[in-house]
Amino acid sequence: MRDVVSPQAVAVPAAPWHALPRRNVADRIGATREGLTSTQAAERLRLHGANRLGAPPRPGVVRRFLAQINSFFIYVLLACAGGTLALGDYVDTSVILAVVLVNAVAGLLQEQRAETALAAIRNMLAPTASVQRDGQRLTVPAVDLVQGDIIHLEGGDKVPADARLLRAHGLLIQEAPLTGESAPVEKSVGRVPETAPLAERTCMAYAGTLIVGGSATAMVVACGVRTELGRISDMVAGTEPTRTPLLRKMDRFTRTVTAAVLAVDGAIIAIDVMLRGRTADEALLRGIGIAVAAIPEGLPAVLAVTLAIGVRHMAVHQAIIRHLPAVEALGAVTTICSDKTGTMTRNEMTVQAVGTADATYEVTGSGYAPAGQVLFAGEPMDSGSSAVLSALAQACALCVDASTQERDGQWTVSGDPMEGALIVLAGKIHRDAGALAGRMPRIDEVPFDSRSRYMATLHRSGAGTAALYVKGAPERIVAMCSTQRTEAGDAPLDPAHWHTLTQAMASQGHRVIAVATRDMGMATRLSVGGAESGLTLLGLLGLVDPPRPDAITAVQECRHAGIAVKMITGDHPETARWVARRLHLAWHENVITGARLDRLSDEALRELISVTDVFARTTPEHKLRLVTALQAHGEIVAMTGDGVNDAPALKRADVGVAMGRKGTEAAKESASIVLLNDDFASIVAAVREGRTVYDNVAKAIAWTLPTHGGQALFVAAAILLGITLPITPTQILWVNTATSATLALTLAFEPAEAGIMRRPPRPPHAPLLTGRVAWRVAIVSLLFMAAAFSMYEWALWRGLETERAQTIVVNTIVAMDVFYLFSVRFLETASLTWIGVRGTPAVLWGVGTTLLLQLAMTYLPAMQSLFHTRALSFIDNAAVLGIGVLFFLVLEAEKRLHAFYSSSLCGTSITGHSDSRT
Ligand code: ADP
Ligand code: MG
Repeated sequence: MRDVVSPQAVAVPAAPWHALPRRNVADRIGATREGLTSTQAAERLRLHGANRLGAPPRPGVVRRFLAQINSFFIYVLLACAGGTLALGDYVDTSVILAVVLVNAVAGLLQEQRAETALAAIRNMLAPTASVQRDGQRLTVPAVDLVQGDIIHLEGGDKVPADARLLRAHGLLIQEAPLTGESAPVEKSVGRVPETAPLAERTCMAYAGTLIVGGSATAMVVACGVRTELGRISDMVAGTEPTRTPLLRKMDRFTRTVTAAVLAVDGAIIAIDVMLRGRTADEALLRGIGIAVAAIPEGLPAVLAVTLAIGVRHMAVHQAIIRHLPAVEALGAVTTICSDKTGTMTRNEMTVQAVGTADATYEVTGSGYAPAGQVLFAGEPMDSGSSAVLSALAQACALCVDASTQERDGQWTVSGDPMEGALIVLAGKIHRDAGALAGRMPRIDEVPFDSRSRYMATLHRSGAGTAALYVKGAPERIVAMCSTQRTEAGDAPLDPAHWHTLTQAMASQGHRVIAVATRDMGMATRLSVGGAESGLTLLGLLGLVDPPRPDAITAVQECRHAGIAVKMITGDHPETARWVARRLHLAWHENVITGARLDRLSDEALRELISVTDVFARTTPEHKLRLVTALQAHGEIVAMTGDGVNDAPALKRADVGVAMGRKGTEAAKESASIVLLNDDFASIVAAVREGRTVYDNVAKAIAWTLPTHGGQALFVAAAILLGITLPITPTQILWVNTATSATLALTLAFEPAEAGIMRRPPRPPHAPLLTGRVAWRVAIVSLLFMAAAFSMYEWALWRGLETERAQTIVVNTIVAMDVFYLFSVRFLETASLTWIGVRGTPAVLWGVGTTLLLQLAMTYLPAMQSLFHTRALSFIDNAAVLGIGVLFFLVLEAEKRLHAFYSSSLCGTSITGHSDSRT
């Protein structure tokens, strides 16, 4: 038996909740069927604690530290340290160990920071619950639920706590998290035997399961750790994988580089011993120097930080990342498929037109304030003078789930904004329309479903009589009607009239809703399909829902960035076209409807999809088909969704985007990003961030490889030439710790480059090391080598001692590292601009730290004896700086040349294109 019992029930060894008749549930909990008051709820919350599961245990610091050390590079470095230790070179050993330590601690701190940032962001996605408190329906954070609360559940909700059903309409729950069974279970209020296993307790809704259809009211019987989910939460508290494809690619990449370095290094050691006659000890020591110099051990950490920063920036733009790989996928997106209503439009609706069998009316006023009038031929109507309008007002007040409230003079809607607009219309026709709901209670309903496109409610209209109200898409509703209401009474339906009216309203951009009614006699229930025939059509309502201004700008940004935008809506094709035109979608005239989609073969769809941007009267199932068709074209697709049926398409898309406000829990769970503001522009902002992340990773690679490679090449060349090393192995290690840890990391903080949204998406399978970057790595490595040798030879030529010459070389290399950093910050465009030279706070910090470290190494006596350095003269320093500047200018010139050649290449290809067209 369950140990979940309320304090009141402790004394009585009562039946478990599922075996209890529903009328006894409230008594046993000490609640009423009207729900709790807010004071009762607060008291219970204080007594029993919040409705949340315990956080999964986190690995300890030592574990996480060891995890940092558990990498291929670190093993190589440790082996090097072992080597130097065996050779008795304790200074080098400690420097290498310092490198390891700095890397691991930095990695640990960064990981911690990333985790805290992610956790804070996840909190923004805390689920809510619809609960009855003080006799009102409220939305509260799910953690505030207590035993005895009455909750409302509908399609797409995640059940917030264990609850006993009190009322249920076609309720279907998917209980996979508890039972492992992915087929939804039908639920109803009747009790089940005490011995029924979890999967057969059909009168219960369990925390963590998903409502996939229907609606219900239920009483909370267990919260938090006392729920069924709480009992097994150790099993489900799986941790989110944080290895993204890019991270894995990077791991492989650095591993390959390391292996290559070790192979070459081995050969150099062998040559050193055999051809140059060096002792094995000495050769090994130099070899270790080369290895440590060349291994880009800092790269993975830089990448992780870059991703974490990208996640944070996206959150600033209201896009919350649920799965880290989405950050990368976003940067490669080529097509965004978006819902229309609320994402590309404002979803602040107002009824502006009403059409009946006799006349059409205009409605004034805007927003949700009940101020405005119904005009006929420009003249205000006398309320009550039209029987048809009165009936419409009644339907609009009753056949809705939303409600409007006034707070501080501001009128707002809770629930569907479109329904809010209908309530407002009802108020404009009849001042007391709001009181109707109390007089005509709802006794049954068919909830709105985007597949059926209508909703129906059954109301008690008098002693033993019932009235049915239905509203929905005009094509659907007209087909269910046999008569129409006129001022002179009911008349046979004239479908042509309604068709013309719908077309006319929709082509003005109105979202059109048809409203119908039927006298249901003594009915107390709606049979299946019982709302679908014999109706009397009352009229059509035209609502305006203008595009969001920032969505228009965002669509334009997408066009420049080579990203296609497709609008997918359940709305009428004419309404959709109107909005698409205002959004300036590329192919806004071609509208494909859901019905046509069903008839198209996969091949035909694949042809059409590239010249169609608007899909109307679609159902969520169509979204899946569209994603698949687009992906078959090689597109990287971002797809938005909000309903429970959108889940498969969201999962299938490369980037699934769920709506934070109107989205269901089901959609959020299947998506990799959640938009807190439901705004299309936020997707585009996230794409921009995704591109920035990828750019910064490319910059980090472009910086790290040649700075490490150049040093290694230079030492290798010295060994092969058989000359004194221009830089000692210990100094090499120093340069690595001092610069890698500080300079490479600054690239993670680089802001987006100005032209980032004016270039086409990166090819999805582009390698990390593109031809362009490889070329850059090669020339920069050679320049490093040339500069270091020249400085060394010049110093010797001036008659300086070897130590001083080596100190000059160390400083030259660091100076070049710094100047190269400025060059790499702008991969293709000029760095020699005010913005480029000014840098970012991160860059200034990095460069400042490096400078201080370098001064300390050169001038502090303790460091001098440790690293065998000498103080430099003014001339030495000036030369070092001069080399840095020269190197920077050479790289800028190279960028300029490359830009010149590639633009002239582009020029020819464009002419080639237009030639082939004419
Ligand atoms: P979208 O959000 O893409 O505009 P929906 O699937 O929400 O599309 O709606 C499709 C159609 O269903 C709408 O054009 C409207 O005719 C109808 N509809 C939408 N919401 C409701 C509702 N709450 N009640 C009745 N009908 C509705
Ligand atoms: Mg909708």
